[in-house]
Amino acid sequence: MGIKVAVVGSGPSGLYAAEALNDQGAVVDVFDKLPVPFGLVRYGVAPDHLSIRSVRNTLDRIWDREGVRFVGNVEVGSDVTIEELRAAYDAVVFTYGASSDRRLAVPGEDLPGSVAATDLVAWYTGHPDYRGPDFDDLLRRVRSVAVVGVGNVAVDVVRVLSKSPEELAHTDMPEHVLATLAAAPVAQVHLIGRRGPAQASFTTKELKELGELADAGVFVSPADVELDSTSEAAVAESKVAARNVKVLSEWAERVPRPDARVQITAHFFARPTQIIGDNEVTGLELERTAFDSDGSLVDTGERERLDVDLIVRSVGYRGLALTGVPFDESRGVIPHRDGRVLDGTNTPIAGLYVAGWIKRGPSGIIGTNKKCAVQTVGSLMEDVESGVVGNRSDNGRDLVEELHARGVAVVGVPGWRAVDRVEQQRGAALGKERVTVHDRAELLELATQSHPAT
Ligand code: NAP
Repeated sequence: MGIKVAVVGSGPSGLYAAEALNDQGAVVDVFDKLPVPFGLVRYGVAPDHLSIRSVRNTLDRIWDREGVRFVGNVEVGSDVTIEELRAAYDAVVFTYGASSDRRLAVPGEDLPGSVAATDLVAWYTGHPDYRGPDFDDLLRRVRSVAVVGVGNVAVDVVRVLSKSPEELAHTDMPEHVLATLAAAPVAQVHLIGRRGPAQASFTTKELKELGELADAGVFVSPADVELDSTSEAAVAESKVAARNVKVLSEWAERVPRPDARVQITAHFFARPTQIIGDNEVTGLELERTAFDSDGSLVDTGERERLDVDLIVRSVGYRGLALTGVPFDESRGVIPHRDGRVLDGTNTPIAGLYVAGWIKRGPSGIIGTNKKCAVQTVGSLMEDVESGVVGNRSDNGRDLVEELHARGVAVVGVPGWRAVDRVEQQRGAALGKERVTVHDRAELLELATQSHPAT
């Protein structure tokens, strides 16, 4: 008899873990608190990055495997406890990602108009549990935006805010999001890096796209792309850094496009010190930084103020603890060794595993999660081999059936497929691939009306 495993989270790392486990003969139930699968592929990858989003077509095929089930609309920790999972499965693999945001820790951070990129992304991708700022209202008044952080999420946000309505029309963003973005009077978008261009964490392909938008000009001050010795060393060491600096240096010499709808300005060596405003954001104070002779980042004493009415804090995602599972508060991850969850004495807890962002922290591309999940599954299968895992006496119990019996509206693969069909039909009616259904009640209705969950 193959082992039975519960995977918690149906994003890329969860589905790659399910695939690797199923390859080894395991029966796998993939739990998700949302009624639809794919995690950050659906609710994180930028809607205009169609080729990256198409990874979901590959992930979707995993549901066709014998022995892999989607257990959607079930929240682990409330609808079902960790203890119940441990009793019903030989092993539990946590792959629930990093759904919160890191803080900037500057005065004014909580003023209306200071928002987390995680919120803006959740809104524009149509996350059904989105409860953040009312962007449909906020964006009607926003002319100038500062996006803090120079990672790929920051670049996604700058691009989505700077693209013309025509450039976004083909995406699967909900219709109200497209209408709000099209009507937003955004004219200035600032991208803010606290260190230099050689230390930015965005990748060159993503950066270059900002310079290729239909109706947006890009600008960077030549002083910001001058390399000091610390940055020269960084460029010599990293091809990505060298390519990024090359693109930005070209921007510094570009002929301005004053007539473009949006002006994008990249700022480097600019550390936010304060978000300014009485009742809402009116500006961002920045201090000019520099590397000293030891390569440490220091304040030069120069201050600058940007007049902005929206600040998007894009300084990284952060994982959240799950009751009953060890958690490293300082890093926002589940402590592990080779994917085996560790207790307070650094001893592996038999039957508990972790993969993806909640294991490594929020970094890497989608493919990184495959390698990560495969490593974890390798450890799990070693533990099966050595007899640590796989001793559960099978009493024929099916936790998913028990959840149904308790009245939990579990969404299975047929329910997801029903949603998928409707989203594609709505897309086809508008000449595009899909329109995301963002309302949880509607998702549930679509998922359950013709397909009692299986
Ligand atoms: P990230 O790459 O870690 O970038 C975070 C940025 O925030 C860095 O520039 C960091 O600067 C800055 N930062 C952190 N604390 C700050 C502070 N207190 N003040 C000012 N700046 C601060 O994170 P991310 O952009 O959220 O992306 C997460 C992961 O998803 C990354 O691996 C990314 O590549 C991936 N992703 C990929 C794509 C794609 O492939 N198209 C798209 C989106 C996301 P320092 O370096 O100075 O700390």
